Amino acid sequence: TQPIHIIGGGLAGSEAAWQAAQTGAKVILHEMRPEQQTPAHITEGLAELVCSNSFRSDDHEHNAVGLLHEEMRRCGSLIMQMADRHKLPAGGALAVDRVGFSEGVTAAIGSHPNITVERGEVTGLPPADWQNVIIATGPLTSPALAEAIQRLTGEDALAFFDAIAPIIHGESINRDIVWAQSRYDKAGPGGTGADYLNCPMNEQQYNDFVDALLVGEKHVYHEWENVPYFDGCLPVEVMAERGRETLRHGPLKPVGLTNPRDPEHKPYAIVQLRQDNALGTLWNMVGFQTKLKYRKQADIFRMIPGLEDAQFARLGGLHHNTFLNSPKVLGRDLRLKADPRLRFAGQITGVEGYVESTAIGLIAGRMAAAQLRGVELLAPPATTAMGALINHITGGHIEDEGQKLRSFQPMNVNFGLFPPVAVTKPEGVKRWRGPEKAMAKKKATSLRALEDLKAWV
Ligand code: FAD
Repeated sequence: TQPIHIIGGGLAGSEAAWQAAQTGAKVILHEMRPEQQTPAHITEGLAELVCSNSFRSDDHEHNAVGLLHEEMRRCGSLIMQMADRHKLPAGGALAVDRVGFSEGVTAAIGSHPNITVERGEVTGLPPADWQNVIIATGPLTSPALAEAIQRLTGEDALAFFDAIAPIIHGESINRDIVWAQSRYDKAGPGGTGADYLNCPMNEQQYNDFVDALLVGEKHVYHEWENVPYFDGCLPVEVMAERGRETLRHGPLKPVGLTNPRDPEHKPYAIVQLRQDNALGTLWNMVGFQTKLKYRKQADIFRMIPGLEDAQFARLGGLHHNTFLNSPKVLGRDLRLKADPRLRFAGQITGVEGYVESTAIGLIAGRMAAAQLRGVELLAPPATTAMGALINHITGGHIEDEGQKLRSFQPMNVNFGLFPPVAVTKPEGVKRWRGPEKAMAKKKATSLRALEDLKAWV
């Protein structure tokens, strides 16, 4: 039988190889290191962790990434097995000894009877006789392969940098202050004319906010990252640096909007939030791509009226990152519509993070192996963390037709990606406050996920 060719022996590629091989499929795993390094990798080991050694929270009842750990353990994940084996003390987080971890993955893959590791860069689209391919070459995909993919998918379907605006959990936005309205009440395709949430600022609030942006600590890049600024997509603090009025004439312009609570007075500036997922649980801060340090962002953005208690599903950033416009170019089976021989996995699909990249590798590996047996494996249900991620990259996302820039950006797993669950106050409890209710919702979401995962496994 035909082997499955997997390009990239990082987190996603190693997991995909393991999952497919465990079903009996023959796998050839192509890894370019050490012959060719990326700017961030330094070893020749498979599944090298390029930065932090943390897989983040391991709390599978109250944290979405912890839930993803647990789901993957239940699917026999090699990456999770090695992470658990090489775990270091780190409170509630799952931190690993990066050397032992990578060596463990390399040894397990290298000794699997169904896997052959071939070292060397794949410099173009796979040859015609590779009929079942997974591309898992990560955020630092080699330029030759990236260019070949871009030629196939089209100029605007593969990005080399992400410019991420923060995303807020809808339930943490103060609806007594913000109001729903599109600029000039315009209803775009599928819109209602009230598709944005608007946060009004008076002159004092605007000036204080601009001051905070100007002094906020910024991320300093490595030279190789060479992050460019795109016109029309400047970091919010760079816009502030260009002049006190720049933001007020740019993304914060107060025109075409009327505050129903105070129609006589025009706000001095308005911050707009755009619905970010079909469920309406996540809201994107329009024009707020930023390179402010994470710990500063939340403080500064909570100065905006209506966002005083904002909970961020994702903070903003600007990084070197090769990723597909997956909602457009991939099917739910992770295959490229333009060439279904090619399935994608890992960070290149538009998820963010070690754990998320691995999870997409796990699913892609199982799907490729099922295809070899002539059966179609559907994606995990959207109520699971793995399914919620697939939903984010292949469909649940809202494209803003009115915006020239495409709005799909990479995302970590978070509870805002799941369909909401209803919870009721436990019997005997007199006071049930917001934080307790939020914890109960997370737990209910996690229990539902693990239950719904059983059938898929
Ligand atoms: P990778 O793990 O990068 O694996 C891709 C593999 O493909 C590599 O081994 C590469 O050598 C190989 N390859 C590339 N092109 C070719 C080719 N043409 N032919 C053959 N092989 C090829 N996430 C976190 O959760 N925490 C962090 O601290 C973190 N820090 C990051 C720091 C940087 C600088 C970057 C770029 C990303 C970071 N990420 C982090 C994001 C992301 O989670 C990791 O990059 C993660 O490793 C992605 O997994 P992956 O399997 O998709 O890609």
